[in-house]
Amino acid sequence: MKEKSVENQIEKLKKSGEKVIGCFPLYPPVELFASMGLVPAVLWNLKKDVENLSLSDLHLQSYACSIAREMLEFILSDKGEMFDALFAYNACDTLRNLPEIVVSANKKAKRDIPLFNIHIPQVNRQFSDPSLYIENEINSLIKKIEAHFDTAFSGDTFTETATAYSLMRNLVQEAEILVSKGKLSFLSFCETVLSGYTASVKEQIDNLHKLISRASDPVMRRKKKIIISGIIPPPLPVIEKIEDSGFLIASNDIASLKRTYGYSPAVTDNPGKYYADLYENSFPCTTLLYQGDKRIKAFFDLIDLSEADGVIFAGEKFCEYEYFEFPYLEKELKKRGIPYLNLEFGTDDRENFESHFTRIEAFAEMISMHAVKTDF
Ligand code: SF4
Repeated sequence: MKEKSVENQIEKLKKSGEKVIGCFPLYPPVELFASMGLVPAVLWNLKKDVENLSLSDLHLQSYACSIAREMLEFILSDKGEMFDALFAYNACDTLRNLPEIVVSANKKAKRDIPLFNIHIPQVNRQFSDPSLYIENEINSLIKKIEAHFDTAFSGDTFTETATAYSLMRNLVQEAEILVSKGKLSFLSFCETVLSGYTASVKEQIDNLHKLISRASDPVMRRKKKIIISGIIPPPLPVIEKIEDSGFLIASNDIASLKRTYGYSPAVTDNPGKYYADLYENSFPCTTLLYQGDKRIKAFFDLIDLSEADGVIFAGEKFCEYEYFEFPYLEKELKKRGIPYLNLEFGTDDRENFESHFTRIEAFAEMISMHAVKTDF
């Protein structure tokens, strides 16, 4: 299966007259942008779209994660000229100064691309409630978009758009269940969901209906159930190898998958309240520091609910947020007797995955010695 090029997808949108806003990091207010006439392109998984990191290397250290380096390369290259606007909110240390870097590089290159940003307070909700602050940030963002694009926010359009996104997330969850039953491959699931991050919500819904219609009876009745965790899914050849080795992906704890589609706020015509809800209650992610306490419970609930026999970590090299958490998760997994495999991916991992393949095969052998609970 071939991954879609983000560049081609954005080009297609531009040719059909759409305005595109490039967004980072993981959880931008996509419904709001779409309701105001901008197609949000969430900028992760850009490896296939950048040949080298020559522009990014002028600004980011080589020990930054591949996601940030590849994203910066894409934005600063000629491809970045396709964006009508950019958006960022505060996240990890690697991304902290990226908005300033982008603005200054674009200014130098005489590119007139506005960058909107908001601040998401990383405060524990037990001690402080940032809802009003977030509402205010969202309302300021609306005013900036209205002024720049000479447009007007509509509560009714926001309601319609948020409803469409909620339907889209429900369809993703429906497809995820089919994957967990072996009726769809995780590979085709990833391909469809990830391509949605640079597509209109209507196109995402159409593609998900097509994906779901391809569900068929499982080929094998007994497989070893695992969950995959990480910031982005492993490269597609690695996913293919995992499935070919007899693993059933019973669920996932991936930031660009489950942690993104795992929660939809109640639909309202008030975007401030909608995003205060989203940032408080979304599926816990290492990149939203205030969710740290909820994360461990959510991770092990996922294992229990999916009855997983093991875990594969797809580590993003140099992502401190993920790597600070791994040791604790591993300790807990050991205590519970749940086997796990650590894989790591970085900027150079474009091909030659043989060493990963060998480790996956060994893990498959090892896990098959554990009691197999699957029999659907
Ligand atoms: S992968 Fe980790 S280090 Fe990289 S941008 Fe995301 S949170 Fe930051």
